[in-house]
Amino acid sequence: MPIYTLPDLPYDYSALEPYVSGKIMELHHDKHHAAYVKGANQALEQIHDAAESGNTGAANMLEKNLAFNLAGHKNHTVFWNNMTGTKDEEPLGELKAAIEDQFGSFEGFQRYFEAMCAGIQGSGWAVLAWDSLGEKLITLQMYDHQGNLPLTVFPLVLLDLWEHAYYLDYLNVRADYVKSWWHIVNWEDASKRFDEVRNINTVLAK
Ligand code: MN
Repeated sequence: MPIYTLPDLPYDYSALEPYVSGKIMELHHDKHHAAYVKGANQALEQIHDAAESGNTGAANMLEKNLAFNLAGHKNHTVFWNNMTGTKDEEPLGELKAAIEDQFGSFEGFQRYFEAMCAGIQGSGWAVLAWDSLGEKLITLQMYDHQGNLPLTVFPLVLLDLWEHAYYLDYLNVRADYVKSWWHIVNWEDASKRFDEVRNINTVLAK
């Protein structure tokens, strides 16, 4: 029985057009995300078998496969909900205030986030996250699906910067993809996540 399952998209493939095409959404969800779900389930099953049989020679490979695929599954699960067909939302309320506290203004945050996106070497993600220790918003450049992260930070908004996320629409011009993406960020979802993660037991989450 597989542990992880591919969630449905919360909207139609074409809901994010013209900023992200239906074709990309279809491939991205049905092929790429599905592969991470499959890979995470396989890795868990193989780790179980290795532990049971004592045949542990592949432990390093299995750990890499689990981290990569499970992170890929989690990131995309958040990412789909981070976007909406309701265009041109902006952060409101307490999330808006927290962004202004850390970055000076929403425009300042956007400027910094775009620079982070442009600078990611190879495949990765840009993340706005809640840090449970400092109780503050932080930004992260995530390498592949899982690298360059402190533990127990919670993503509020993340942006997939793998070429599979934009190449069909924007070719090599990643900056245009990022600029377009602002139009479809689901700040309501981010606010909901913001409210929920602040209630996580931070003693445990440290
Ligand atoms: Mn992706």
